[in-house]
Amino acid sequence: MPLLILFLCNALWGFLPISREVAKIPYYVLATNTMRDLEVSVLHAALQVRTHMHQADEPDLVQGANVKAAETRVRSLKLALADVQANFDRLPDVLGEWPTLREKVRHIKERWDVVRLQASSLVHVAPDGVASVPAPLRLATIDFDPAALTSASRLARSFDSNVALLTEEIEAITDALSGDVGTRLVQGQVTNSRIFVLTFTLGLTAIIFIMLVNLRLARYVVDPVNGIVEAITRFRRGDYSARTSISRNDEIGALADAFNEMAANIERTHADLSQLTERDPLTGMLNRRGFDPRLAQHLRKLEAAGQEMAVIMVDVDHFKTINDTYGHAVGDQVLVALADTIHNCLRAGDFSARLGGEEFVICLPGQGDSIGMSVAERLREAVARMALFDNEGSAFSVTISAGVATFPACGRSQGEILARGDEALYAAKSYGRNRVELAKPDLTWRKSA
Ligand code: GH3
Ligand code: MG
Ligand code: MG
Repeated sequence: MPLLILFLCNALWGFLPISREVAKIPYYVLATNTMRDLEVSVLHAALQVRTHMHQADEPDLVQGANVKAAETRVRSLKLALADVQANFDRLPDVLGEWPTLREKVRHIKERWDVVRLQASSLVHVAPDGVASVPAPLRLATIDFDPAALTSASRLARSFDSNVALLTEEIEAITDALSGDVGTRLVQGQVTNSRIFVLTFTLGLTAIIFIMLVNLRLARYVVDPVNGIVEAITRFRRGDYSARTSISRNDEIGALADAFNEMAANIERTHADLSQLTERDPLTGMLNRRGFDPRLAQHLRKLEAAGQEMAVIMVDVDHFKTINDTYGHAVGDQVLVALADTIHNCLRAGDFSARLGGEEFVICLPGQGDSIGMSVAERLREAVARMALFDNEGSAFSVTISAGVATFPACGRSQGEILARGDEALYAAKSYGRNRVELAKPDLTWRKSA
């Protein structure tokens, strides 16, 4: 688009010199026409003089026999002379565009003055308006006088040659005018080409310059702004760790710092809120709200990786009795101690939660039923060994029952696996408590060793 505008402007601008010359063409035409008129009027006047001289030799006219015809010729001659004069008078206006021709015009004007003087010497006009040829020339034809004839003939020849020179000079001016038209048009064309090349080069340079400035601007302003927008977008989609890496001492740097600070605050607040909403305040373990999405996420990953997972459901045996015997606070301490024991049984990558009351769940990603069973068994033994004290400082112990289910053998959905784990847990309860049961895919229960 900018290139198109450049070409259009260039074409318009480039056309100006040519159009200026074209606009002058009417002046050229007027000037050359006037010069032609001048030449024709000079020749016409010269012809009138010659005609008059020739006819004045006739005896009738000499003797005044045909005065009327003579008067007519004189009038024609005067008109012809006036015509020449009028054309000369128009020249300054018509040739105003060509000051260089002023000298030549002055020269032909001088020659015309000579021609006019010679004409009036050759043609005498009497006071009564009757024209006659000068006496020497007249005598030459009637009374032969060789000396007078020679002098008059010289004058006539000089007149002729001056007229010839004058017309040549007028034609030279006309030719100069025509040549000038051509020269100026060619010059206009040359100027046009130069302007075209110049403006095109300038325009192209300007476009390249603008593109470079844009590129620099993009690197300096647009890219960092895009970086900030990208971080904001990530943040908006839930990635609270999104930050910009821009470090500058200008407005964009201030904007990036403000965003990073705001994101850090929100991330902290979000973590605090998560802690409050996804964690059990008594044991610090994940609660149901925190556990469910984590389990779903693991199931997706394991499914994609083709791996299995063991899930252990845990419930304290006769916990109601413990509460009733030692009090609710001691019951709470039992739950806290149990959470610690569970925690000690886990390896990196495992996760657990308190699902409610005295029920817990442990997930072992990547492990099958045998590891699930052995971990559950180890936990059962560890819980049984836990040293617990009542308010009087007397020791007591608790036991747990556990059910183990595996993904994907016992089901692919979260609900199915937890339900199968619960079934195994309640099987353990029904078999007498303080034991671990494995949920089988075929729904038959196997007693733990
Ligand atoms: P079973 O062996 O069949 O599991 O018997 P149980 O007594 O453990 O069974 P039940 O589920 O009926 O009792 C669970 C008790 O756990 C009931 C409730 O008062 C108690 N409990 C639930 N949440 C808490 C808690 O946060 N703190 C305390 N101290 N007790 C709780
Ligand atoms: Mg219980
Ligand atoms: Mg229970």
